[in-house]
Amino acid sequence: MERRLLIVSNRLPVKAVWKGDELKLRASEGGLATGLGSACKDMDYLWIGWPGAEIREPEIIQELDQQLGERNLIAVYLTQTEINDFYEGFSNETLWPLYHYFPSYTIYNNENWNSYVKVNRKFAEAVAHEATADDIIWIHDYQLALVPSMVRERMPDATIGFFQHIPFPAFEIFRLLPWRKEILEGMLGADLIGFHTLDDAGHFVDTASHLLDLDIASNNLQFEERLVQVDAFPMGIDYQKYQNLATSESTARNVAKLRKMVGSQKLMISVDRLDYTKGIPQRLLAFQYMLEHYPEFRENISFLQLVVPSRDHVPQYKVFKDEIDKLVSSINARFSTIGWTPIYYFYRSFPINLLSAVYRTADIALVTPMRDGMNLVSKEFVASKPDRTGVLVLSEMAGAAKELLQAIQVNPNDLLNLVDAMVRAIRLPEEEQKANMELMQQVVAKFDIHHWVDLFLRTLLEVKSRQEEQYTRLITPSLGTSILERYENANNRLIILDYDGTLVPFHQNILQAFPDESLRALLDKLVSDPKNRVAIISGRSHLHLENWFRDLPADFFAEHGAWYKPPRGSWKLTANLRAEWKPAIRNIMETFTEKTPGSSMEEKSFSLAWHYRSVTGEIGELRARELCNNLKLFSADHGLQVLCGKKVVEVKNIEINKGNSVKQLLLDHSYDFIMAVGDDTTDEEMFRILPETAITIKVAGRSSAAAYFVKSFKEVRMILEKFSSVREPAFIGK
Ligand code: UDP
Repeated sequence: MERRLLIVSNRLPVKAVWKGDELKLRASEGGLATGLGSACKDMDYLWIGWPGAEIREPEIIQELDQQLGERNLIAVYLTQTEINDFYEGFSNETLWPLYHYFPSYTIYNNENWNSYVKVNRKFAEAVAHEATADDIIWIHDYQLALVPSMVRERMPDATIGFFQHIPFPAFEIFRLLPWRKEILEGMLGADLIGFHTLDDAGHFVDTASHLLDLDIASNNLQFEERLVQVDAFPMGIDYQKYQNLATSESTARNVAKLRKMVGSQKLMISVDRLDYTKGIPQRLLAFQYMLEHYPEFRENISFLQLVVPSRDHVPQYKVFKDEIDKLVSSINARFSTIGWTPIYYFYRSFPINLLSAVYRTADIALVTPMRDGMNLVSKEFVASKPDRTGVLVLSEMAGAAKELLQAIQVNPNDLLNLVDAMVRAIRLPEEEQKANMELMQQVVAKFDIHHWVDLFLRTLLEVKSRQEEQYTRLITPSLGTSILERYENANNRLIILDYDGTLVPFHQNILQAFPDESLRALLDKLVSDPKNRVAIISGRSHLHLENWFRDLPADFFAEHGAWYKPPRGSWKLTANLRAEWKPAIRNIMETFTEKTPGSSMEEKSFSLAWHYRSVTGEIGELRARELCNNLKLFSADHGLQVLCGKKVVEVKNIEINKGNSVKQLLLDHSYDFIMAVGDDTTDEEMFRILPETAITIKVAGRSSAAAYFVKSFKEVRMILEKFSSVREPAFIGK
């Protein structure tokens, strides 16, 4: 990677800790810091984050900045109030529990939210200050979900990736969040949004489709003018590092010490940060149940539970720690014998070489979180088994379960299932252990941290180049000028215009979308130029168009071309059309109108339309999908076409389409300038039929057969304004 990588995460890979009066830098715990740090060490990178402590004194800040600078690190300093409200409050008491499916633990607090916005802005400002246009900006995790869009505001063309290391919940959970739209829009400032699993990515896309008005094609979202890709990138570990450590001398020494402590019994281990998502009490209860019901395991198996202190300022965590302490004491008090301790319990952080020895010594690792984005401990255990013995019991609620298929997978809510898995693990023959471990090692070795970084960044650059292709089609000022030049130089022009969404905005009430004065004046001016032929091709009924444009000498096609009116002529049907299908469709549509408040049915001569512009929330889209499916079944056998357009579902005879109307306009004429503008699915038929030299324009940036696109009807009007103010010599003085 030649371009510089700008990593942004809540915490830096090192933290500042006070040793007496001196400030020291120590490695931060956790997978992100260690994993990403080692994967990026050979890259040109800069890392922006919080140094883990409140530091106020300017001289100390200056000194720390210098020390960090030498390691390519930039600090974002947070006040104690910000640490309380943004980090411990909103991040850890709101987003964390909700995203891990603990809605009853979730606290909704406006002050914390305000702090979250403020701190995210701080980070975005730091990024904008450091970043150059060429940098690849990679923002990490749920604490910084607003940073992508805040950076985008400051640097519209920046290359921005966002990765969320924790689960993204299903829509029904996410919607509980009062700030759900802000969070989604914040994340959508990125060009690529990554999650650990396809389920998470799917939840995000589904949630976005419910809450925002976006175009979605599989995992590609069209957000405002930008293509955003959402995908799964399961994070890996530094496999080689764990393998090497497991066979190192220091680990061998620690293994010997551990063996001395536990004796010859089988050893089960668990390594977790203190967190209610990790399923620690459930696991302890299952262990207790096993000792009760399988007395043969007493004195033959010990359980080492390592809990790494975390977030102990948050009240829920304090209560939770008490619960674990009590459970461990009561199990040990009940079952211990003179020569045997059932549970060895540590509440502290272990250095990596001791951790390696724990993994290496363990016969069984119990990794049974209630919910976990990925869970790196499970992968570290697999990587620390050079002789391939050992069994992994893994919760199906951890992201890692999607990759470590040979683990004994469990539902951590099911006590008997947990007990059964422990028993199976204890009894699993060595050969099976080795066969399973080998397959898991292959996966963990191949999809390691380097692979993860590489794949994410490569995909991000691919999204960027796909965007570039799209942007060339946006009508820029220079493209606008060249279209105007072509217009000026032409003598025989055809201008084809759709109506709703193209010349006027969408209205809640379809009858309110009448042409305003300025549109009338604009069209009058356009048609008054004898070099112009202006055609309006609309899905509207001919009665509507007649009402609004009675005196406008233009070509009109109503009902997608079922009716035609030449300039100064009268309406006539364009084909011999059938309408005997209407009662059956009317019945279906009426049922939907009844069960969907705010929707209405419109009857035209040869089509029936179900409008849902005024239906609140996502119910409209839901019903529309249902209706489309119902109608498609019926219409295929009856020569009908179902159009699922913008806030409308329409059924019409298959022979009528805007493409045929355009064909009629092209008949016996040769134009030296053709422009067609439309915003809906039905307009695609006209874009496709026109010659390549035609200027075809889609409104509102949807992917389309059109050559160009503009953002809204306002720009269409601006283009037409420019056309209409081109003054021909013949007109001067008129
Ligand atoms: N870990 C650590 N010190 C310890 C115990 C664990 O640094 O004393 C590391 C462990 O090696 C792993 C990370 O903490 O890399 C935990 O990551 P995981 O994905 O399992 O859970 P998280 O804490 O991110 O929820």
